[in-house]
Amino acid sequence: MTDFQGLKALVTGGASGIGRATAELLAARGAQVAVLDLDPSSVDKPLLGFRADVTDDTSVREAVAAAVAELGGLDVLVNNAGIGAQGTVEDNDDAEWQRVFDVNLFGMVRTARAALPHLRESRHAAIVNTCSIAATAGLPQRALYSATKGAVYSLTLAMAADHIREGIRVNCVNPGTADTPWIGRLLAKAPDPAAERAALEARQPTGRLVSADEVAGAIAYLASPLSGATTGTSLAVDGGMQGL
Ligand code: NAD
Repeated sequence: MTDFQGLKALVTGGASGIGRATAELLAARGAQVAVLDLDPSSVDKPLLGFRADVTDDTSVREAVAAAVAELGGLDVLVNNAGIGAQGTVEDNDDAEWQRVFDVNLFGMVRTARAALPHLRESRHAAIVNTCSIAATAGLPQRALYSATKGAVYSLTLAMAADHIREGIRVNCVNPGTADTPWIGRLLAKAPDPAAERAALEARQPTGRLVSADEVAGAIAYLASPLSGATTGTSLAVDGGMQGL
């Protein structure tokens, strides 16, 4: 693994799960890391925590400006904040579709817009978007969530084309079911959470869920100069789910 000495990174949704594991990995490898989150209260040194709601353009602009000022520049944006949604197209109304798109897609657009002027000043600029296997897998009961992640996938390809001549690479990771507080909250709603977890694990080709650290490793690779010739790609971190 490369080292991130001297690089400055911003991770949205970095107070929990995949974002937290990524922020900690980048910091352990030498990056200065700022976390933007709805609730950054659990974020400790050496990470810098900033409160931001990615559905609010002013909040994003102010938090990105404050983070970049404190970091002294920006090389890496990890666009990771996201929320889930269950059901078919009949199960969620327009307001819910708009709410989830507002976080999962427009949140990434807003944060990229605020970060791009700073990334243009970097000699190692990279954006990594947290997408999902749901973008391409055709999962049941995930119409809305899958549509948001399909849009994130297309956005990644289009942004890669738009910004490579400015020296900014844009890639995404596609996690399978990753063991984060999000999955914990979902399992807690089941009548028998332990049985539900066992069933979920049994559906994985590896017999276990993907860890947040494994997703963070893929994000770190795509954020690092080691992947300096790679842009417009998606890297699956799904324990083989995609091949099924
Ligand atoms: P998580 O719930 O553990 O963490 C998400 C973080 O995003 C939280 O800290 C939350 O406060 C923050 N957040 C949510 N809405 C926000 C907003 N409006 N503004 C700012 N911050 C906000 O979830 P996770 O499992 O770590 O998921 C992270 C990303 O990974 C999401 O984009 C998700 O779609 C994606 N993903 C997760 C899985 C999985 O199985 N866990 C699989 C594929 C993709």
